Amino acid sequence: MTDLTSLTIADARSKLRAKEFSATELTEAFIGNVEGGDALNAWCEKTSDLAREQAQTADARLAEGDAPSLCGIPLGIKDLFCTNGIRSQAGSNILEDFKPPYESTVTSNLWADGAVMLGKLSMDEFAMGSSNETACYGPVINPWRRKGDDTKLTPGGSSGGSSAALAASMAMATTGTDTGGSIRQPAAFTGTVGLKPTWGRVSRWGIVAFASSLDQAGPFTRTVRDSAIMLQSMASVDEKDSTSADIAVPDYEAALTGDVKGKRIGIPKEYTVDGMSAEITKFWEEGAEYLRAQGAEIVEISLPHTKYALPAYYIVSPAECSSNLARYDGVRYGKRAELAQGDGITELYEKTRAEGFGDEVKRRIMIGTYVLSAGYYDAYYTRAQKVRRLINRDFEQAFEKVDAILTPTTPSPAFGLGEKSDPLEMYLQDIFTVTVNMAGLPGISIPAGLSSDGLPLGLQLIGKAFDEANLLNTAYALETALDFTAMPEKWW
Ligand code: GLN
Repeated sequence: MTDLTSLTIADARSKLRAKEFSATELTEAFIGNVEGGDALNAWCEKTSDLAREQAQTADARLAEGDAPSLCGIPLGIKDLFCTNGIRSQAGSNILEDFKPPYESTVTSNLWADGAVMLGKLSMDEFAMGSSNETACYGPVINPWRRKGDDTKLTPGGSSGGSSAALAASMAMATTGTDTGGSIRQPAAFTGTVGLKPTWGRVSRWGIVAFASSLDQAGPFTRTVRDSAIMLQSMASVDEKDSTSADIAVPDYEAALTGDVKGKRIGIPKEYTVDGMSAEITKFWEEGAEYLRAQGAEIVEISLPHTKYALPAYYIVSPAECSSNLARYDGVRYGKRAELAQGDGITELYEKTRAEGFGDEVKRRIMIGTYVLSAGYYDAYYTRAQKVRRLINRDFEQAFEKVDAILTPTTPSPAFGLGEKSDPLEMYLQDIFTVTVNMAGLPGISIPAGLSSDGLPLGLQLIGKAFDEANLLNTAYALETALDFTAMPEKWW
């Protein structure tokens, strides 16, 4: 029998229906990999018993011929999604042992479509980070290693558990969230496909909030087709999230014709930065060439405010985080610090927050509180909002001329754990991804090829708002031409 854990969702879907194997067999194969994958530290909660029950239900539905789209497909869920009765800590000690009494809309949609939950996946604390090193569970390790070198590398962040688990065949797809790049950068670092939908396409209800005007959930998958299948289920108009867009969800898979003839693809000249690897530049040029060969027109464009996106993001996102994280006070959720004789409510807040939050989260809360404070608000926050408007306008003008934009996802491949200790250096990871969040647009990272030392590199396609169908189709055409099939060599 073929290795069940290397199948795509699309393959497994038809094989399950053809009774080549059962959902239970498929789930057991993944549970085996999850159990054998502890060295990667990707899971913070395993839900094997629940997975077995859900697989049995899936088998019953398959037998009755009433199988929904994800029937029997084993998934991993980022720890940021609240899952009913199952530990959901957002990678933070302050949510120690928090078991929500409700289910996020995204995960509800996935279960309603028959998916199976293998467990929860580690992430940077409150999704702040680019390497998964701020997780309260310790860093996740990338299954990819440099050729002939056993240095432990980051799987990216903040959705590092999601990227690593998929790349190591411990789930058939995983969920992530992307506030400044946290789906696309980890996808690029692990040779997987990561999609950040348009802000408002996927409900944020039940997802722990980081920066609400930027946060958006999306899937990690092996292929673009699987990404379309997952988005179909995850996306919905949700009355519980007033910012979820009241726009019907189209049939994403049907859009995958591979036809990009006459499409105009923009290449922004501002996306070349110092220290960028020559290899990613080569893949970027090749990617454009592949699309041209399929009948697309390549157009040079300018997004002049790109260089202000990162500084503006690091004002807007801490500002929103400082407000969102004010609710962790030791009273309502998770951790409560031990109090001394005579301590009152102020000490309860202070001690709980001092013990519960990690350094990066504290740094962001302090920056956010500062930029929102009287006297500094206009100089920082208002200014950053104006920059955001200009970034939006850059994209609006570009999309008058082009249908999609092609860029690298990151300037370089995965780096070693502990290699970037300076926060500013870490923030530079997001240079090609944050603009998309600032403008609320959809973006997808697909694997482009391997660097000379054997690590995956990713290309990003950016689409018009709510135009995921065309974005996925362009990505599908590019994926077919790039034909990336490499998998990490198993060492764990
Ligand atoms: N690395 C970015 C940050 O730390 C993005 C995080 C994210 O997208 N969740 O803010």
